[in-house]
Amino acid sequence: MQKEYLLESNEVIKQLDSSPHGLSEAQVRERQEKYGLNKLKEGKKTSLLMKFLKELANFMTIVLIAAAVVSGATSIYAGESMIDTVIILIVVVINAILGVYQESKAESAIASLQEMTAATSKVFRNGKLEVIRSEQLVPGDIIALEAGDSVPADSRLLESASLKAEEAALTGESVSVSKHSDVLETGKGEVALADRKNMIYTGSTIVYGRGKAIVCYTGMETEIGHIADALNTAKDEETPLQIKLNQLSKVLSIMVLGICALMFAVNIIRIGVSGNGIHLEELIDTFMIAVSLAVAAIPEGLAAVVTILLSIGVTKMSRKHAIVRKLTAVETLGCTQIICSDKTGTLTQNKMTVVEHSTSDEPLLMTAMALCSDAVLDPDSLQAVGEPTECALVNDAYKNNLSKPELAKDYERIGEAPFDSVRKMMSTVHKKKDGSIIQFTKGAPDEVLKRCSHAFLKGNIVAMTDDIRHDIMKANKAMADRALRVLCASIRNWDQSPHDLAPEALENDLIYLGLSGMIDPVRPEVKAAIKECQNASIRPIMITGDHKDTAVAIAKELGILENESMAITGAELEKLSDEELEKKITSFSVYARVQPEHKVRIVKTWKKLSKVTAMTGDGVNDAPAIKEADIGVGMGITGTDVTKDVADMVLADDNFATIVAAVAEGRRIYDNIRKAIQFLLSSNLAEVIAVFVASLIGFTILKPVHLLWINLITDCFPAIGLGMEAEEADIMKRAPRDPKDSIFSDGVGVEIALQGFVIALLTLIAYFVGHYVESGVWEIAQSADGMTMAFLTLSLLEMFHSFNMRSRTRSIFHLKTKNSFLNGSLLMSFILTTAVIYVPFLRRAFSFEHISLLEYVVAVLIAVSIIPIMEIVKLMKRR
Ligand code: ATP
Repeated sequence: MQKEYLLESNEVIKQLDSSPHGLSEAQVRERQEKYGLNKLKEGKKTSLLMKFLKELANFMTIVLIAAAVVSGATSIYAGESMIDTVIILIVVVINAILGVYQESKAESAIASLQEMTAATSKVFRNGKLEVIRSEQLVPGDIIALEAGDSVPADSRLLESASLKAEEAALTGESVSVSKHSDVLETGKGEVALADRKNMIYTGSTIVYGRGKAIVCYTGMETEIGHIADALNTAKDEETPLQIKLNQLSKVLSIMVLGICALMFAVNIIRIGVSGNGIHLEELIDTFMIAVSLAVAAIPEGLAAVVTILLSIGVTKMSRKHAIVRKLTAVETLGCTQIICSDKTGTLTQNKMTVVEHSTSDEPLLMTAMALCSDAVLDPDSLQAVGEPTECALVNDAYKNNLSKPELAKDYERIGEAPFDSVRKMMSTVHKKKDGSIIQFTKGAPDEVLKRCSHAFLKGNIVAMTDDIRHDIMKANKAMADRALRVLCASIRNWDQSPHDLAPEALENDLIYLGLSGMIDPVRPEVKAAIKECQNASIRPIMITGDHKDTAVAIAKELGILENESMAITGAELEKLSDEELEKKITSFSVYARVQPEHKVRIVKTWKKLSKVTAMTGDGVNDAPAIKEADIGVGMGITGTDVTKDVADMVLADDNFATIVAAVAEGRRIYDNIRKAIQFLLSSNLAEVIAVFVASLIGFTILKPVHLLWINLITDCFPAIGLGMEAEEADIMKRAPRDPKDSIFSDGVGVEIALQGFVIALLTLIAYFVGHYVESGVWEIAQSADGMTMAFLTLSLLEMFHSFNMRSRTRSIFHLKTKNSFLNGSLLMSFILTTAVIYVPFLRRAFSFEHISLLEYVVAVLIAVSIIPIMEIVKLMKRR
């Protein structure tokens, strides 16, 4: 087989047994079978066993394993059953399995969301242009490419309109390379990859222009497939909250170690002072108390609960059309203070319709507009397909009996300078039937007009004067003030077809033709979303490539700005120094006629003022701004691969209101996770206080297995239930949370301390009640009944307390929402707790005593008292 770059394009099509209209369905099916999916093999995944072992390698598990070993050895020594050891080991294994399961579930949740935003390709099959997942491509497929696309497969160009590709991933060269479709010179032998100007390769991106290519190699057969045998799967990132929690558990571990060592020392000294010599049993008892304390202090279920809640959160967001690509975004969303949004498509519907012309030759204006665009008229629906602005122009011409396919027959396109958002215009060169050459240029009126030396007025070409220019700008402003997007068309006549198709060469000496004004209605839901932002102290900002007057008119309609002084253009922005911008930025709500690099400057400045900033983007050049933003938002429908790839979140519906919904969801998730954390930590603190106080006065209130059970079984379900809590009524009425705030800020730390203390006190009371009911005396003594009552009461306390935690300030009797998940999880915890106490073999395993109905009722009564106590606290807080 000949190298594709050394063949003429028709020869390549023949060699790959394809056709200019693409492959047939049968060919595609056959080739998919032969070549498989067009994707790179994934890197080796960590094996399940390794993941399992990793779960075991943490401080708390090691303590537990040590405890199991010691208690096993003791049992053998004393000739007792090894039930404690077995239970602890079972817990360790279950915990590790759960950890592995949770982590992989969270990973796959994110992975499947990333799939939803996976790259697509435009491919011609059976002569029709289709959009398919890039992994479905096969050799021989004909693909269409434009700026912003990731190159999906190694392909030979068939057509290139100023196509430029960035191939740094393959060549290390970050300057983009111009590509053409001509055959390379033969006879030189091997051509280096970087010099194959008629080929494009997987892993590179199209940064400019437009083109068509035939796929030659896919998947692992591509150049990048040869270089990198395997694609390294993205490293899992931890969210700020997860990092904080890891730090917290490290601090807790160290504290626990310290307390345990202290207790151990104190006990040894006490034994030494008593002069009885050190007995092994006493040593073991002391050790087991230290273990209890360690188990009590460490929130074993916390990490899993947080991971579960985050991954449930991203799934829920995706149902609201916000596809989170990085878990960290869930948290950052809740802190958002500034939302910078594109206008077209995000605030408006991107459904353009031409409603007005300003010209002395309407048919010529419409012809120029329709021909100088890449939108095509679909022969079936007779509606234009392509970019909405251009569709409007093609539809407008069609409505006026100027069908683009017919026009194209009279005006063959022989060259073009594609649109880009920096020039804000595009040009096409056409050969007319009589052989004459004409160029059409259309774009933003201010830009096009700068390049017009003449004007076509009433059938005559006249020199451009200040008066004419003034009249045109007046007409432009009149349309823009009514929120219309205005495009200007111009022509240029050529004696022969121009050699140089560079924009600088083409776009001079133009003859002004006229203006077309189009409406793009605002999205109906956006106005309310803007209001919601403002109530939530979030500042919405419009950034657009459109004209200032159009932008201001739409921003006013949406309530983004009150007066024109709050709008600034890209050119005015450029005149401001960084310091000046920093001082003035708070006064701007609308940025018009901006270049993509201005977006980066805007984000950077807001970030300098420590504002958490979200920024939307769709075009190729928007990627840096999206990357720079705290929350980079990509567009699912109109967005380019490049922007989606770097975004933290992608909007499946391109809608501004979706960002706001995601922010609300982010706030709700964080709120609830915090409630779950507070709930779990107050429980741990209560356990530590109870165990510590009991050991000081000389008895064991709860054994390590009891504490483990509570931490991992009784507490986890309600904690997850709290995570499902509906958002509080004022969630979008308060100011955003400061991302630097600790989990314990805003009184949470104090509340944990208070709740821990109260729960510990009630548990200790239950212990004595239990012992009294059995023995008839109030005394300090080791008691299995006391232990059973303490366990039951503490478990029930946790269940009732989870109700309190549904809101930190509101009375639970005034909550309007229902939380069926919490109710269900409480029922589950309740059944399990009762089972451990009443099912004989479980009771024996946990060293519990049978307790009477009366005792059970007493336990419930003690436990339920946590509700009125916390209600009083909340009442005082509200006051
Ligand atoms: P936003 O940033 O809100 O999405 P936008 O879509 O108007 O705004 P660009 O696509 O960069 O931003 O367009 C900038 C300007 O370029 C437009 O206001 C219009 O005047 C002009 N323009 C847009 N599309 C075309 C096109 N296909 N051909 C010629 N000119 C165009």
